[in-house]
Amino acid sequence: MQIIDGKLVAAKLRAEMREEVAALKAQGAGGKIGLAVILVGDDPASQVYVRNKIKACEEVGIYSRLVDLPADSTFERVAGEIAALNADPDITGMILQLPLPRHLSEEKLVDLIAPEKDVDGCTYGQKGRLWTGRDSLVACTPLGVIRLLEHYDLPLEGKHAVVVGRSNLVGKPLAQLLLNKNCTVTVCHSRTRDLAEITRQADVLCVAIGKAKFVTADMVKQGAVVIDVGMDRDENGKLCGDVDFAAVADKCSYITPVPGGVGPMTVTMLISNTLDAYRVQNGISNKGA
Ligand code: NAP
Repeated sequence: MQIIDGKLVAAKLRAEMREEVAALKAQGAGGKIGLAVILVGDDPASQVYVRNKIKACEEVGIYSRLVDLPADSTFERVAGEIAALNADPDITGMILQLPLPRHLSEEKLVDLIAPEKDVDGCTYGQKGRLWTGRDSLVACTPLGVIRLLEHYDLPLEGKHAVVVGRSNLVGKPLAQLLLNKNCTVTVCHSRTRDLAEITRQADVLCVAIGKAKFVTADMVKQGAVVIDVGMDRDENGKLCGDVDFAAVADKCSYITPVPGGVGPMTVTMLISNTLDAYRVQNGISNKGA
């Protein structure tokens, strides 16, 4: 069994991106490479995520801007900030940190983001591109999963990939990415019957359900690649995944640990998407255009 080391891969990708940013700056191509993060309210978990995003920008040398709005901000106020960032030449990409306070419609606000600045891959425009198999800016966590599989050179074509979880943020885009990679894809969710029967057929098993250590050894085929997206707490409050790592590891050919697997890739993909958006906006490529 081999551990898929997301921390290592993320560090390597960030180092490459740092070099690329330096080269782009040296060429004087375009204007600033900038990421804006809109945070509404004071959710402590969101504040940590936002800090990590800003830190990652600093690490690779790109400009970042935090738009910190009070929890009681009106829809119009947030919409106004999105419109201003859409028009701001210093901002390449933006992300609206979720969840939003309950009085604000995530769906309506997200769709005000200009698709070419949607570095979180959450607008209909970018999702439509992904669904139709065109180059697109893809949601960061599922993109991170694919980059991990690519980094370890794990063959996907013709493999049976089972994705457990169908959220718009993770499960659905991941299933689509795997389909675009010519996997045969099965998507499971909370109403799936005989789940273990299906997961046991997976060559590549991806789990994103938010239930600590839910996937046990009897649910995994010998030699499978197991990707654990979950970020949960076990009975002792310790960070763990949706997969019972200790029980499952021996059965897998490759497995992601939690922490240190998919997690570190997510923020790294946000930076990668920002660079992709920059290339498109400056005519260096046409990905997601
Ligand atoms: P979510 O929106 O709550 O979706 C959970 C999905 O799991 C739903 O589709 C649900 O099915 C399904 N599900 C729940 N219980 C199930 C069961 N017993 N059997 C089969 N399917 C079941 O969660 P999410 O946002 O996708 O996140 C999933 C996990 O990934 C969480 O632990 C989250 O913290 C983690 N996460 C990690 C990162 C990272 O950077 N590593 C990023 C995002 C999320 P229904 O649709 O039928 O309800």
